[in-house]
Amino acid sequence: MVDAAHQALKKYFGYDQFRKGQDQIISRLLDGRDTVGIMPTGGGKSLCYQIPALLFSGVTLVISPLISLMKDQVDALGNAGIHATYINSSLSFAEGKSRLAAAASGNYKLVYIAPERLSVPDFVRALERMNVSLVAIDEAHCISQWGHDFRPSYRSIPAMITRFKQKPTVVALTATATPHVTADIRQMLEIAPDGVVATGFARDNLNFQVIRGQNADTFLLDYLKKNQDQPGIVYAATRKEVDRLYARLAQKGLAVGRYHAGLSEQERASSQERFLYDDLTVLVATNAFGMGINKSNVRYVIHYNMPRNIEAYYQEAGRAGRDGEKSDCILLFAPQDIRLQKFFIDQSEMDDVLKKAEYHKLDQMIGYCHTETCLQDYILRYFGEQSPQPCGHCGNCFDTREKSDVTVDAQKVLSCVKRLRERYGKMMVTKVLAGASDQKLLSFRLNRLPTYGIMKDRTQKQISEFIDFLTAEQYLVQQGGAFPVLALSERSLPVLKGEVKVLKKGSVRAERLAVDDALFDVLKQVRKELAQTEFVPPYIIFSDQSLREMSVRLPATDH
Ligand code: ADP
Ligand code: MG
Ligand code: ZN
Repeated sequence: MVDAAHQALKKYFGYDQFRKGQDQIISRLLDGRDTVGIMPTGGGKSLCYQIPALLFSGVTLVISPLISLMKDQVDALGNAGIHATYINSSLSFAEGKSRLAAAASGNYKLVYIAPERLSVPDFVRALERMNVSLVAIDEAHCISQWGHDFRPSYRSIPAMITRFKQKPTVVALTATATPHVTADIRQMLEIAPDGVVATGFARDNLNFQVIRGQNADTFLLDYLKKNQDQPGIVYAATRKEVDRLYARLAQKGLAVGRYHAGLSEQERASSQERFLYDDLTVLVATNAFGMGINKSNVRYVIHYNMPRNIEAYYQEAGRAGRDGEKSDCILLFAPQDIRLQKFFIDQSEMDDVLKKAEYHKLDQMIGYCHTETCLQDYILRYFGEQSPQPCGHCGNCFDTREKSDVTVDAQKVLSCVKRLRERYGKMMVTKVLAGASDQKLLSFRLNRLPTYGIMKDRTQKQISEFIDFLTAEQYLVQQGGAFPVLALSERSLPVLKGEVKVLKKGSVRAERLAVDDALFDVLKQVRKELAQTEFVPPYIIFSDQSLREMSVRLPATDH
């Protein structure tokens, strides 16, 4: 690493060493190579552009959606003796103009701008005249529709970059990017595949946990009582739910505040402020709260409802433990959360292709709530990390119940799905397996199938939960949009062929472990058919081209 960078780190920020990824990103930028930097929340992304900003001769433009944070950042830089300013909608027209003029005459090393400014032609023309060395795009996932927080104004960034007389170096930084989103960011900014520096997403101080089948209110109250002096956030899916929980917790004497977009600006600002300064210990909020909240000692983030996808979940949960201390990330799952999220997707303005992609992400979120593998592992795989190791401290890693062999049950379910030609949803599969005499089932003559009633010794609830488990472990997949059908996956085949065992925690009845005759016949047929079909992955893979052509909004967050 260049000496000058080390010196600047020590001189201006007082740190002795770069963190993982920082030195790599910084030395690339100093060489003028455009870079996508992916580091977890709290990983130190700001320094990745602040240090080069000090060493470049021209200005560094920082594009950030977090207006509330700009002032803090600029003040902090000022205190370190670095000239910086910001331009956003909180300033008067005259003030904005005069800052811009000062920036153009080289008075600042860093200028923070809100992306919305890029749609003001006068503003862009003034920018073009500046000597810009580096463009830093913070929260870069906002540029992609496949990210969870798409901002249409981010789309103006690539055009802006091309308008400078001399092309500035570009760095795009984010903490939440799936491989899909990363590819999208790269394409849009024309950064080569080898221009991605990723340090990994793991946050080892976070303890993930999913609570199912318990009364959510009781769990929440118990937890909060046990952790009364610890600051934390409770996320709920709707404003109404936030109001209800807020009233309930306040009544129990907890130092609780609330935050959602339906409240006055004043009330929101006050909740945020009081929470930041530990005047309130619990904040109940919708997803309107949080992006850019700089509170490092949040000890827990509890999701009272399941969020709509893993990206949103990881970003929200990731607001816990930014100081590196152990913190809890707890998700309270209830089946009606699925209905709510589907409703949000249906109500959104997205076109059908995007809706389908959102449904697919929702399925993976549901999978998180039912998996028995390490929860951190599950999240990291979602973000494309190769073979992460079990964390050893999440709810599932701690679940030491013995595993039982449920291969036969799995074979029954998978055979039934195959026999139904992968054309029915979970409900119908459940009914067929249970041997229910449902009208629709009878009118389709599904009671004549050989798999009809082969699990009639179970309740429909048991079967349905078992299907959730098989889906979470990817022995089955949900295919399609609002009314998904169950389909086989690559993992189904070895199970049907009897090549691998399916193990599940918790009790199953031992006498069911022998293959019975009815199943044996079905299996024989199914295996024969499978031998003739080639496996096609059930999900549509979107081409990069189709990604770029679509310009529809993602479902609304509560802003
Ligand atoms: P991010 O934007 O990735 O979430 P920040 O840039 O806000 O993270 O940095 C998080 C914290 O880490 C800040 O308090 C910052 O001062 C600190 N930090 C960053 N780099 C270093 C470093 N090299 N050594 C020590 N602390 C650092
Ligand atoms: Mg940041
Ligand atoms: Zn784990």
